[in-house]
Amino acid sequence: MPQFRFLGIPDELATEVRQNMRAPRYGHPAHRELARGYGPCRLCLRTFETGKEERILFTYQPFREPESLPAPGPVFIHAESCGRYDALELPPDFRALPLVFEGYETGGRLLVQERVGPRVAEDVLERVFGRRGVDYVHVRNGEAGCFMARVERSDA
Ligand SMILES: [Zn+2]
Repeated sequence: MPQFRFLGIPDELATEVRQNMRAPRYGHPAHRELARGYGPCRLCLRTFETGKEERILFTYQPFREPESLPAPGPVFIHAESCGRYDALELPPDFRALPLVFEGYETGGRLLVQERVGPRVAEDVLERVFGRRGVDYVHVRNGEAGCFMARVERSDA
């Protein structure tokens, strides 16, 4: 049974946003507010308690390879410090969300896109990683479309 590693955005990036209140790479202002939606936080991968937790909205570019086409989009993190998610299990709060798994090859070329729907998320993920050439997966929100997390093979 293959294992997959679920990862929040890099710690140093979240720290930079909280300190400077600007989007890394882009420089435009980040926005702090009381959570009006569930998020989730892209660092700890937990959903927000709406009306209670403060969050920061900024522009994030989820592709790391220099040859990839950037795909900047809006993301949220907790305004206060939280721990980066890095585990071999689907983040528990993701189970209730509409998920789409996108399989990419290094360089950012999209090879496969699967909506999880009523299926078991792990089964769908295994299928996506099973597609020839897939090096990593992005989890996206199936309604809003935004990037939520990165998944790698645990032996990668
Ligand atoms: Zn968080």
